[in-house]
Amino acid sequence: MINAIERYKQLRRRVEKDCEALSKLHADNIVCAAGCCDCCTNLSVFPVEFYSLLETLKANNQTKLHFDESLPCGFLKDSLCSIYQSRPLICMSHGIPIVFLNDEFEELEYSVSFCEKNFTNTDLDAMKFNGNNTLNIDELNSELSQINCDFVDECKEKGLEMPERIELRRLLDFL
Ligand code: SF4
Ligand code: SF4
Repeated sequence: MINAIERYKQLRRRVEKDCEALSKLHADNIVCAAGCCDCCTNLSVFPVEFYSLLETLKANNQTKLHFDESLPCGFLKDSLCSIYQSRPLICMSHGIPIVFLNDEFEELEYSVSFCEKNFTNTDLDAMKFNGNNTLNIDELNSELSQINCDFVDECKEKGLEMPERIELRRLLDFL
């Protein structure tokens, strides 16, 4: 059986493809572009994601990271993500319409959410969001969470305790 880090990388490749396809599908309604970073904020991630991103950064010899404490996400540089190729999964979904089970109603209902800068000139009823034109964030989170549980178990077997989440900025401490 392949280890949890490899499974995370497989998931990452799949999400990247799905997000690319959804961006193309909604190209007329998505205005995300280099230089727009209002959705960026300092994040914490699961340990499996943290160590996988760390591994990728090291493999790419990206060992001197930029971090600016004064910005909403310290990895922003000139309004661009300085770790774009190694950004977390959640950052890949920026701007894409995501579907999730909403528990704000009496009964669980599916809701769709997207950045308010996108889909501004669209008749949302006519858009007919469905499972084929959105990213199911619950499914993604549940798969990621399972892979992380397995990673935490693998670490335990090696005598290493993992925290629940790790701030992304701590990448700087390990490079
Ligand atoms: S890691 Fe990059 S894409 Fe994600 S919030 Fe920070 S700057 Fe934005
Ligand atoms: S999701 Fe919104 S804030 Fe983020 S890049 Fe796209 S348009 Fe800009």
